[in-house]
Amino acid sequence: MTKSSKKPAKETNDKAAAAESNDSMCITDNCVVSFHYRLCEIDKNGIKSAWLEQSMGREPLLYLHGHGNLIPGLENVLAGKKTGDEVRVTLSPELAYGPRHPHAVHRVPLKHLLKSHKQVVPGQIVTLQTDKGPKNVVVIKVGKFNVDVDVNHPYAGRILHYEIQVDNVRAASAEEIAHRHAHGTGGHHH
Ligand code: ZN
Repeated sequence: MTKSSKKPAKETNDKAAAAESNDSMCITDNCVVSFHYRLCEIDKNGIKSAWLEQSMGREPLLYLHGHGNLIPGLENVLAGKKTGDEVRVTLSPELAYGPRHPHAVHRVPLKHLLKSHKQVVPGQIVTLQTDKGPKNVVVIKVGKFNVDVDVNHPYAGRILHYEIQVDNVRAASAEEIAHRHAHGTGGHHH
């Protein structure tokens, strides 16, 4: 733990930690990183889809590096980067959301879906209440009382292409490291 011992072990709240951000700081374990991203899928012929998601124009994504809070391929490519760096990377499913499991279709009562889903149609991503918490699943078939859902992650089995811009890098607070997640805008709130 030589890295963290360089700084005086003072009590630091999240605002103070944010003020310590340093433009030349490289992303290593126990850095809090914010970044903008957009992502598309690359099909079997190498053709890019439209953007599936993007953070530009919104708050950047905030995470604590080195704790598995991001998919492995993104943590790998962000390590060593600095504020302002831009990265483009194409990730196989193994480095993104894992392979698609063909037998992951489950029949569940409609009432187990979040109440906010009034009309459910095939292809829709809905939130299922499970004993491990809410889980996003893809609707395959809708019946009167039940719905067949694919419990694979919606991006499982897909080759994803990310364009990333590092927005800010700072040292994590002791509290963030203990909690294994970032605090502040875009991170966890308690
Ligand atoms: Zn926390």
